[in-house]
Parts: sequence; structure tokens; C-alpha cells
Amino acid sequence: MPGDEDDDMDRHLHLTDPAPLDPDWEEFRDLGKRIVDDMADYLSGLRDRPVWQPVPDTVRAALGTGLPHAGTPMEEVYEEFRATVLPFPRGNIHPRFWGWANGSGVPVAAYGDLLASLVNCTLGSGENAAMMVEQQVISWLQEALHWPADGSGLLTSGASMGQITALAAARQAKGPAADVRRDGAAAGGTQLTVYGSTETHHSLEKAVELLGIGSRFFRQIPVDRSCRVDVAALRAAIRADRAAGLHPLCVVGNAGTVNTGAVDPLDELLAVAREEDLWFHVDGAFGAFAQLLPSHRTLLSGLTEADSLVFDLHKWLYMPFDVSCVLTRRAGTLEAAFASSADYISKTAGGPASYPLSFADRGIEQSRRFRALKVWFALKTHGIDAFARAIEGNIAQAAHLAELVDADDRLELVSRSDLNVVCFRYVWPGAAPEELDRVNRAVLTRLQTEGLAMPSHTVLDGKFVIRVADNNHRSTLSDFDFLVRQVLSAGAALEREGKG
Ligand SMILES: *Cc1c(COP(=O)(O)O)cnc(C)c1O
Repeated sequence: MPGDEDDDMDRHLHLTDPAPLDPDWEEFRDLGKRIVDDMADYLSGLRDRPVWQPVPDTVRAALGTGLPHAGTPMEEVYEEFRATVLPFPRGNIHPRFWGWANGSGVPVAAYGDLLASLVNCTLGSGENAAMMVEQQVISWLQEALHWPADGSGLLTSGASMGQITALAAARQAKGPAADVRRDGAAAGGTQLTVYGSTETHHSLEKAVELLGIGSRFFRQIPVDRSCRVDVAALRAAIRADRAAGLHPLCVVGNAGTVNTGAVDPLDELLAVAREEDLWFHVDGAFGAFAQLLPSHRTLLSGLTEADSLVFDLHKWLYMPFDVSCVLTRRAGTLEAAFASSADYISKTAGGPASYPLSFADRGIEQSRRFRALKVWFALKTHGIDAFARAIEGNIAQAAHLAELVDADDRLELVSRSDLNVVCFRYVWPGAAPEELDRVNRAVLTRLQTEGLAMPSHTVLDGKFVIRVADNNHRSTLSDFDFLVRQVLSAGAALEREGKG
């Protein structure tokens, strides 16, 4: 019948119409090649650019415009990115960025990220190669850090997510006998407590708050002169809490504190946790990677015996943001805290849904990005030994900086660690404490706003200090010579201005 023919025509037309959200593939191909070309030029020329520069008002305005309703050709969108976003980065890809605890990002990993978005797998569950890549990456990381091979783990966005994941597992394993998952945080009828030094990262406190334990029950234990936890004070705090009828749950050890890079005596903390039957969690956000160096394994002794460990691959393994890992000593402890069931995610006898592993059962997230691929790509390309050498290089650079500072009477070395963090300040004889703070703040602002170098700051013993944390695979020793020269000249100028 003629009518049928028309229907077929319509259907045919409809099916061959290009899907409006897929690109013109030639255009896609051309722009991709251009982006890779441009970025190779940009990254190879980073050293000649400012580390950071303020975002001008015109750019601020452009980035404040409203929702686009109609489309723009992708080349034009890319041009806008080149004009507004690219010139005003955070700075952490630059060879002279040493602020906070940011990593520099190995470029080849970006191909992994691009491919991850293009194949667009979600890694909650199911039989597919992406799931196996994450399993493989987790087992490589276990091997690299000398973690027990029969342990378990999960890649997360960051260590903050890892802390809450690990503490939820701790609560399930060492909390009250009551079913907290079903009956809620108050179910056990006892108050849980968690212990860590005063130098512990604030993400632990956040995790304790979110788990309904309450931040005041995160017991902040004092530290010694080298910012390591006072183990005797820890024991006393646990005993006092027990005597008061509370339920001590977990001891947190720091493998690299954010302020000074201090490493707690992990083996002593382990012993306390075992004696007291508590969960032992280690925050190794950046410091855990020193485990790659035989020279540093004694310092980290105890780390591989922990019940859980978090470490950020986007810090001292130089991966692009974001990728972190939480490991547990025993398999099944994450599942005990997180596995859940629903008809629509139940297993089938055969096919993709029969795959026994669900990463969704090891943490909070069901939809999960394929962040394992960038790690897989970078580790295969460079090999773990290249990363170990870069880490060794950063430790040597930090030691070099500490020596330069120590050798100059206009500089005071306020802290140095066995890892990659050095804190120091500009000083002169007879200076008042508030003058020193003012001048050092101004020195740091000058370094940053002139785009010369990007340390960050902290306060140690009440002193404002310039803080260098070197998670940067692009830095060289001479970058630190440059930093010291700049601090000395800015310090001298600001000291004179202050007296002027
Ligand atoms: C960075 C850091 C964290 C938090 O990690 P994110 O990846 O930023 O969530 C926790 N602990 C320490 C010691 C850190 O340096």
C-alpha cells in the first residue's frame, strides 16, 4: 500500500538524520589534532610563562555570562577556552609551583582521561574491560606500596572521600555490635571516638562529622617538637575515654602531615591500636609514596600493617586530578560497610551483570568515572621506577632548599621533613615578630602575584612561614636556587620599605 511506503520513507529519513549531539566527525578530528598540537607547545613552554597571574576583569565577565541556548561551532568554543581559561591556571603544572599539596600532572595520563571520556564506561559494576583495568591498577598500587596482596581497595576522587570510606569500614568492623547501618549512629548506645594528632588533616574531622560521630569526639592528640604524635598522650586519651564509658574506634596515623610533612611513629601507633583492639587508619595522602624508595621504608614502618590507608595519586604520583586510592588490609571490609542490594542492580546467572565484583559495594558512589585508565596509561608508559626516581628527586630538592636556607643568616629554617616539605622565612637581626610576619606575607604575595614561584604558607609556633611542598615532576635544583634568590631580594626590599 502507498501509505506503508510513506511510513518507510519517514522512518528512513529519521534514522539517517545525524544525531544532533554527535559532531561532524571531520571537524572533530581536525580540532582534536589542533588541541594536541597546541597543548604540546604550551606544556613544553611552561617554564617561560608566569606560574600564576590574576584573572582580568574582562575574563571574569566572560566567565560570568548566562546559559547558552543555541550552539557555537566547537572551534570557536576552543578559541574562547584559549583566551579565557588557558592563560589563567592555578599554576600547579608550572615547574616552580610548590603550594599546598598539589601535583603537577604527567601529560600522557591526559590521553587516558580523554579515552576514558570517549569510551565513557561507568565503573559501578558489570563485566567489562574497564572494571578489570581498575582492579589491575589497584593491585599494582598494592604491589608498589608493599601492601598485602589479599587486601582490597577502591579508587576515589580524593583522600577526603577515602577517609570517610575507611572510617565507615572501621565503624562496621570495630564499632558496637548493633546494626548501625540499619538502626543509625545512635544504635549502639555508646559514643565512638577517633584519635589523631593535632596535625591531622581536616578531612578526617569532616569524615567523623559525616558519620555522626561528632567532631569533638575526634580526639586531637598533642605532638612533639617534630610535629609527630605523642604516643603516651594517645594511650592516656584512649584509657580516659574507655573509663568514661566511650567506645574508642580508630587511631589515625599521619604519613606526611600537610603542615610540615611529619611522619608519625606508625609502628608505635600500630602497637597501640592492636593492644586496644582499634582500627588503624593511615593518612598517607602524599607521604605514602615514599614507600617506593627503599631508603624511606624504615621511616614508614608500620604503614603496610594498617587496617586502611589512603593516598592521593594526584599528589606525589603526579597524576592529573582527580584520583586517589583507599586500601584495606582485609578483603570484604569495605563491602561490609557499603554493599547494598536492589532489584535493578542484582546479579544475573550469565552476561555482564554476572560479574562478581561491584566497586559500588566498596564505597559511596554508584556511577564512577573511569579514572583508572589515566593511571594505567601513565604507569605502563613510564614504569613505576620512573615515578620513584622523580620522588627521590623531589626529596633531594627539598633537602637542597633546606641547606640553602640553613646556610644563609637572612633565612630561618623553621621546619624540614624527611619527605618533601620545607618551611622557612626571611629574617633580620632585631626584627619584631609582627614585622617578620608582615614582611614574609608580603614576600610570598610578591612571589605569587609576579608569577615567579608559588610556595604557599602556614603558621608554625605562631610564626607565618613560607611553605614549600614539592610534588612537582618538573622542578629542578636550580628552581630552588632561584626561589632563594627571589626571597632574599624581595625580603631585603620589603625590610627597607618597612624601615623607610
Ligand atoms: C591533600 C590531603 C588530604 C585531602 O586529600 P584530597 O585529595 O584533597 O581530598 C588529606 N590528608 C593530607 C595529609 C593531605 O595532604
